Amino acid sequence: MLKIFKNHPLHKHNTFRIKVSAKFYAVPETSGEIIAILRKYRKPDQDLLIIGEGSNILLTNDFQGLIIRPDIKGIEILDKSSDNAKIKVWAGENWDNFVVYCINNGFGGVENLSWIPGSVGACPIQNIGAYGAEVKNVIESVTGILTDSLEQITFTRDKCNFGYRDSIFKQELKDRFIITNVIFKLSKNPVFNTTYGRLQDELAGNKKIDLQSVRQAVIKIRKDKLPDPDKFGSAGSFFRNPVISKNKFNHLRSDYPDIPSYPVNLQEVKVAAGWLVEKAGWAGKRIGDAGVYNKQALILLNYGSATGNQIKELAEKIIVSVNKKFGIDLQTEVNII
Ligand SMILES: Cc1cc2nc3c(=O)[nH]c(=O)nc-3n(C[C@H](O)[C@H](O)[C@H](O)COP(=O)(O)OP(=O)(O)OC[C@H]3O[C@@H](n4cnc5c(N)ncnc54)[C@H](O)[C@@H]3O)c2cc1C
Repeated sequence: MLKIFKNHPLHKHNTFRIKVSAKFYAVPETSGEIIAILRKYRKPDQDLLIIGEGSNILLTNDFQGLIIRPDIKGIEILDKSSDNAKIKVWAGENWDNFVVYCINNGFGGVENLSWIPGSVGACPIQNIGAYGAEVKNVIESVTGILTDSLEQITFTRDKCNFGYRDSIFKQELKDRFIITNVIFKLSKNPVFNTTYGRLQDELAGNKKIDLQSVRQAVIKIRKDKLPDPDKFGSAGSFFRNPVISKNKFNHLRSDYPDIPSYPVNLQEVKVAAGWLVEKAGWAGKRIGDAGVYNKQALILLNYGSATGNQIKELAEKIIVSVNKKFGIDLQTEVNII
């Protein structure tokens, strides 16, 4: 039977814990159920939102349309006869459970992405990344359903337009394509990617580096850096690290020699958004129950009863002040709805 709920509370379905509701909330457990829900319940003038575990969204109002939360489960090894393992994972699986599955089976490629919240279905949307790794490097294809034609389509990796925290699913296909499964290609002979500074330091004392030790090091760094999810609502990094021209960067660096940066190409440089927010004076600031995490200014917090709009207003104030101080426009990484 199709699971459809009316006037459904959403505070347990978003990690900011914003107290709003959805007029219709559907939890399909198969691709067929997604199609049946779209056929039966989607009205032409009605808003549609697809969500996973709600760890990268900021809800600002009650949602007056239909929310679909694909809850299709399953992990299936398609092939492991060569040096790689090809694994099909359905959208409703939890991302970190999949990482654990890979590590337990000796499949390398996702260990640096340990402990990132969210569903497998959402991992391609913003090409999740951490500690020098991006999920695009292990994705072979992404399959889903177009919400207008109900056609099922598979995008091979080269067609996903993956970029830094970006993909075709976040651009042209936003809210028009429901991802149902992802095929990953992982290595049976992992080569560890430990060049990221903090990760290298954390692993320095280890005699042997293996998938499990990399995972444990990543978890340790993340626990030190991220707010306790039992105490605060948050959606991780609120802003993307801006990419600026080398020329502009050289000007900035003459005023701020310690500005953290990463080269993108010969013309562009990525600068740390958290540093910009901190230098603009926002670390630890709080307006009502909306605040900026003191240990990492890239993270906005809900201390308890902040509304989505209060967090959005705080983000807007930060954007204005960073622009005034550095002439850089911050873009949000979190999807504001
Ligand atoms: C504490 C914390 C730390 C984090 N750290 C990181 C990090 O290190 N690196 C990183 O990249 N991200 C990080 N994030 C962000 C978040 O974990 C990822 O973006 C994650 O992939 C979101 O998954 P989700 O299932 O919660 O998606 P949601 O938040 O539910 O949705 C995110 C977006 O994807 C769309 N979407 C979701 N599921 C589907 C689907 N099946 N089909 C089509 N569209 C869909 C939604 O419409 C929305 O636009 C962090 C978040 C938190 C709270």
